[in-house]
Parts: sequence; C-alpha cells; structure tokens
Amino acid sequence: MAELVSISRDGDVAVLTIDNPPVNALGHTMRIALAAALDGAVADPAAKGIVIAAAGRMFSGGVDIHEFNAPARFPTLPDLIAKVEASPKPVVAALHGIAYGGALELSLACHGRVAAPDAKLGLPEVKIGLIPGAGGTQRLPRAIGPLKALQVIVAGEPLAAPDALAAGLVSAVGADVVAEAKALARKLAAGPRPLPLLRNDDSKLAPVKADRTAFDAAVADVAKKARGLTAPVECAKAVAMTLELPIDEGLKRERATFDALTKDAQSLGLRHHFFAEREATKPGALPAGTEPHAVARAAVIGAGTMGGGIAMCFANAGIPVTLVDTGDEALKRGLATIERNYATTVKRGRLSETEMAARMARITPTTDIGAVADADIVIEAVFEEMDLKKRVFAELDRLARPDAVLATNTSYLDVDAIAATTKRPGSVLGTHFFSPANVMRLLEVVRGKATRPDVLATAMALGRKLGKVPVPVGVCHGFVGNRMLHARAIEAEPLLLEGALPQDIDGALTAFGFPMGPFAMGDMAGLDVGWRIRKATGEQAEIADALCEKGRFGQKTGRGFYIYEAGSRTPTPDPEVEALIAETAARRGVTRRKIGADEIIERLLYPLVSEGAQILDEGIARRPGDIDVVWVYGYGFPAWRGGPMYWADQVGLGHIRDRLLHYAERNPALKPSPLLSRLADEGRGFASLDGVEKAA
Ligand code: NAD
Repeated sequence: MAELVSISRDGDVAVLTIDNPPVNALGHTMRIALAAALDGAVADPAAKGIVIAAAGRMFSGGVDIHEFNAPARFPTLPDLIAKVEASPKPVVAALHGIAYGGALELSLACHGRVAAPDAKLGLPEVKIGLIPGAGGTQRLPRAIGPLKALQVIVAGEPLAAPDALAAGLVSAVGADVVAEAKALARKLAAGPRPLPLLRNDDSKLAPVKADRTAFDAAVADVAKKARGLTAPVECAKAVAMTLELPIDEGLKRERATFDALTKDAQSLGLRHHFFAEREATKPGALPAGTEPHAVARAAVIGAGTMGGGIAMCFANAGIPVTLVDTGDEALKRGLATIERNYATTVKRGRLSETEMAARMARITPTTDIGAVADADIVIEAVFEEMDLKKRVFAELDRLARPDAVLATNTSYLDVDAIAATTKRPGSVLGTHFFSPANVMRLLEVVRGKATRPDVLATAMALGRKLGKVPVPVGVCHGFVGNRMLHARAIEAEPLLLEGALPQDIDGALTAFGFPMGPFAMGDMAGLDVGWRIRKATGEQAEIADALCEKGRFGQKTGRGFYIYEAGSRTPTPDPEVEALIAETAARRGVTRRKIGADEIIERLLYPLVSEGAQILDEGIARRPGDIDVVWVYGYGFPAWRGGPMYWADQVGLGHIRDRLLHYAERNPALKPSPLLSRLADEGRGFASLDGVEKAA
C-alpha cells in the first residue's frame, strides 16, 4: 500500500503530505499515519517546524462519513488534534482546494494556517444533521469571531480563500501554499513561546461577551428559521458555549452533542440523502470506453417558461445557447422574462451588472430553427403536445449535426415515440427540468429504449455542469416524479369531501416538512392546466373543476383553493371554498367528519410510496435512493426524512401495506403494489434492494 502520509524535510522544516485519493479522507488509518508522522517530526532534531500539506486536488474532504455509524477508534480526530496542540514545534496547515469538516478542524488546532487562492474552507456538518465534533464550534469562533462563526457553521457553506483571509481564518494566501506554510513555520519557530494556539486566544470573544445583543439575536434567528431541524439549533448553541464556558468544557460538551446527533433520526435521514445523491447522479454501468460528448454550444426550442429557464442554465454555465421560437413576439417575451430574472438577482446583490450582460450575451434569439445546425445538444421545450413535438423532432433530425444530442423537456409524453420520428433514435432522450428551470436542481434524464450510452453520459455530465442533480429514469407517463405526484393526489379530493379543508391538508404536509401542500402548489402552478388536461382525458376532480368553472385558476386570478390579496402569494383560507366543499359533499351524501393530520399523511403519502415501489419494479428507477433524490430535489420532500422510500422503511412496509389494504376496500386504486406487498411479507425494506441495479 502506498504511504498515506509522505514525509520530507526542507532544511529545518518537516513537510507531512497527506496522500489518500480521491479526497484525502481522514479515516482511521490516515489518522494513525498522521499521528506517527507528527511524532517522527517532533522527534527529528533537525526539524524546527512542521507543515501539514496534501497531495492531489484538495487538502481533505474531512472524516469518512461512514465512520459515524461505527464505534470510535483510537486515535480519534480529537486525539490527533490534541497531539498537534501539544507539539513543542510549530505546526502549520497548508490548505488548498477543499478543507472541510474534520480537515478544517485539524487545521484550527495548528499554530498557523495558510491557504492557496483556490481554497474553500468550511464546516458542512450541519448538512448531514450534525454539529462539528472535533472542536470546530469552539475554535472557529476564536479565529473569526463568534458571530461570523455562527453564520458559517449554521449555513454549512465554505469560505473562499479571500474571505477566509479577511476573516482571519488564515494568515496568508499564496499560489505556492507549501512555501508560504514553511515560511510561517520558520517564523513561528523563531518567535516567542508559548506558541500561539486558538484555544488560548479569547481576544475575538471579548467584545461579544461584553455586548451579546447582536449575537443573541442571531442565535434566536437560527431557532426561528430551523423549521424543525435540530442541527442548526445545536450548532448555534455550541458556538454560544464559547462565550460561557472554558474551552475544555466547551470541547467536551460539543463532542457529547456530536455523538448524540450521529444517532439522531434526522442525521440518519440526511446522511442517507447525501449518499443517495452521490449514487443517483452517476450514469451507472456503461460499456467500457463510453465518453460524454463535449457541449460547447447548445440550442433550446421554445422560449416559454421552461425554454427561457433552460437557456439561462446554459448561459450561467458559460455555454453559448441559441433560443428558437416561432415568432418575434414570443422571443421578445421570453427574453424579457430572462432579463427580469437576472435583474432581480443583480438587485439582490448576487450577480454583477457585468456578469449579467455577459450571460445575456450568451443567449442568441432567433426564429430560424436552422440555427440548431451548430449545436452539440438541442433541448426541445415547446408546448406539451405529441404531434407538435413529433414535427419538431422530424425537423431537428433534418437540421441538427449527425453527432448532436436531441433532448425533449416533456413532462409526461413517450420519449420513445418522439425518438421514433427521427432516423437517429439513439441520439434522443428526455431532459426533464423542473420549474423554475434556472433554480430547481433536479434533472430527470429520461433514457429511451434506443438511447445510446454516450448520449446518456452526455446528458448526465451536462446536468452536473449546469449545477443540476441529474437522475437517470426510464420512459413511462410522468417518469418518476410526476407519476408519483399523481399517486399523492388520489386521495386529496376525497379527503376534502370527507371533512378536511385545503388548509388542513396543506398544513399536515408542511408540518411533515414539505415547503407547501398540494392545494397551495396547485394554486401556484395554475389550476387551469390540470382542468384542461382533465377535459381532454375525461378525468374528474370535482372541487378543482368547480373552482375553475368559476374562473378561480389560483394565484394568477387571485383566487383558487385560497384567496390571495393583491400582489401577495400568501394563501388565505376562503369560506366560499369551504361552502363549495360542504355543498358538494352533501350532494354526494358524504357525511363530513374531523380528519386528523395522521390520516392525511397516510392517505397522501402511502399511495406515493406504493407507486414508487411499482416504478422500481418496472425498472423505471434504478434504486430506491434515486427516487428519494427525485422527491427531495424536485418536490420538496424533507431531506431530513431521507426521501419517500427511506421514510417508508422507517415507518415499516408492513404497516404501510396494511393501511393501504384498509383504504383499498373503499378505493381499489389504493391497493399496495406487488413489490411493496412482497417486501412487507418478507419483513424487508426498500433498503434491502439497494445495489440491485435495474436498467432505467
Ligand atoms: P410555454 O407555453 O411556456 O412555452 C412553450 C413555447 O414554445 C412558447 O413560447 C411557444 O411559442 C413555443 N413554441 C411552440 N411551438 C414551437 C415551435 N414549433 N418551434 C419553436 N417554438 C415553439 O410552455 P412551458 O411551460 O415552457 O413547457 C414547455 C415544455 O416543458 C412542455 O413539454 C412542458 O410539459 C414541459 N415542462 C413544463 C414545466 C412547467 O412547470 N411549466 C415543467 C417541466 C416540464
């Protein structure tokens, strides 16, 4: 096995270089190697100072998250950190690329820190439901002040090198970071004793101890915005300990909280989500030698809601894009929307005028579809009509380069049927963006029967380049996300008739952790969309249809399932809707009763889980974790519950099956899917299917 830590000496400085690709994880064996290297450097009479650096593209991603599930093994990270602090020779961390979590905590125990210009330094533990557990909450406040530390730790977002320098987290930024670190080590070695350590430096705490007003307000704000999440609140409490307790007591309590949180259900859910996302966004086993095509130029057909947003994604990622629509009016409208969106971002201070101009300049509007001829990928986002899409693809087949990828943004339609209108079905697939396309992270990559592996690989790689979370799915009506959304809606109207109000149902889902419930969502999207579809298909949703007959289309008309004050997006319950529901129930002879949140959750989410199982069984999704990722990123399923399939495992599939059987006595559409029933019979969960990859 290659050395995990290589040791070299440059004159009077020993350089310990961590080398454990791909992310230099500080796992158990690495900690043993680093502890031994430190001992060696301390014992080396020729070394006056010590530098800890790293090989590869980053300093270190931190401790291996899998370790949190296992008992602690000596040396733990706090053990290693204690060894650094006890060193009689100055230890300097040379940080480049990423230094996250435990890696940053290790550096905070060093006598000095320097960073490369590309360095990103952060404590992202909160994102997996934890607090930093190796001194981060006690030492970072001493480095950059408690208020700033609170913000950094609660957000879990890294500081870039210039910000880290300005905040005092590092003392220098330089391109040759190891040279900078050696210089600092020499300076410290020649300087006074005791060596500087953050644990002994309370200078940045003092002013806040003297006046806690702003800090306490920030802590209160964290609690207010936590929306049921434990970790941000615990992070804030831990930072506050720096103002109240000696550091050793603070470290002890921090570790105790960290240990407790590793077993917390929220953290387990978030860790599932973290790993599920990593797996879901891989294209999967593709034939050897499959390479994604380079995408240097794109074209988008249709400058409407989605086309405009997709064009923005390309422009944001630095890829020039041609935006095609049928008429000047449509193009003008589309561009005006894009411009307005960018202008809002500029106004919020998150984009410069210059950058906005650069992005706008990357978008070339045209009514000439022939302009697709130089695109590496064409994404179609015209109206959701099969005949129209077929006509567009026949034209793309004629006009696009032979090696171009041809993608449709359809929400429901059969990608194979669209592909079949071309002479190159292998080049066709679905790229299902979510609205607003420039904001939402989920991208369902719909693999058709004929889609070639290199075409799938191209869409997956492009999705990541656009900052999306691309998840491969198979062809069916609505793919993974929208098909399950339909299942969630089966019981929504019956619940209204039986006694629940829109605000009860939406309230149960927001209490569960969704950002909004189905009725507020319907009002936002426009109730007329579904109404028109139902008219065409003969389906019915009695209450929603009645609202649409009255011209209540949702937010855009100021009324839908709720009332909206002029210019407001806040739903207010409407007695008129309540009366309409009551009348409809009376006409149908339904006796209304009080319905609790538990029943609402069961009747909305168990059918959704069952549909997810059916989707797995059909191979439309490759694994339960992929479905979880789709629902967290596309539909706001709370990440701390892991996603619907993970959540179902926690509830117990046997219970879900039994409840669905109970509800199915009244509505056979709620019968549990065969896979759900089989797993329940066998006492298994969806997790037992992981690794059993299906085709998608
Ligand atoms: P939209 O009505 O806002 O825009 C469609 C645009 O396509 C219009 O500007 C129209 O002029 C243009 N168009 C029509 N025929 C054309 C042609 N032959 N050539 C060029 N342009 C043409 O529609 P949208 O909401 O952006 O939806 C577009 C697609 O994205 C649909 O397939 C829809 O199902 C899908 N989708 C929509 C959403 C959403 O929330 N709106 C979400 C995901 C996917």
